[in-house]
Amino acid sequence: MIDLGRIFDIEGESLAFERQLDLSQVSQWGQRPFQSPVKVTGSVENRAGIVTLRCEASFVLTTICDRCLTQSDRPTVYRFEHVLARELNDEDNDDFIVVKDGLLDLDQLVTSDILLELPIKALCREDCKGLCPICGANLNETTCGCGKQSIDPRLQVLQDLLNNQN
Ligand SMILES: [Zn+2]
Ligand SMILES: [Zn+2]
Repeated sequence: MIDLGRIFDIEGESLAFERQLDLSQVSQWGQRPFQSPVKVTGSVENRAGIVTLRCEASFVLTTICDRCLTQSDRPTVYRFEHVLARELNDEDNDDFIVVKDGLLDLDQLVTSDILLELPIKALCREDCKGLCPICGANLNETTCGCGKQSIDPRLQVLQDLLNNQN
């Protein structure tokens, strides 16, 4: 918890912070993507009565690709910004965070920010070709030719027939 009472009360006031989060127990895609600590730096600032939190989370994202099973360790940086307020008002703003009594659970906020930002699937890259279902070759690295040889020449006639129907 960080106490932002002073920041809310005094225009022009700001507070810088730096901390480390241990997310090694967090599970995503059935994996543990945060094997080393997440470094968080940022600040909270009151500018003309509007309190804004800006922060940057940097970490190594460890994933095992859903398709080709390759492990990758990617240095990743996410940036977040939220407007903070001590009480709700009518404003309809997605980035608007209510901080009761001026006390902010920074670790919890940053953790949920990071989890929301993670890709939906664990892929080594968007267009990963995966593994060949026949020989198991990694199709990102090699072309095995299995797909081409799988049709028996005697069946080819039938295959051509089917293709012509479309
Ligand atoms: Zn992959
Ligand atoms: Zn193959």
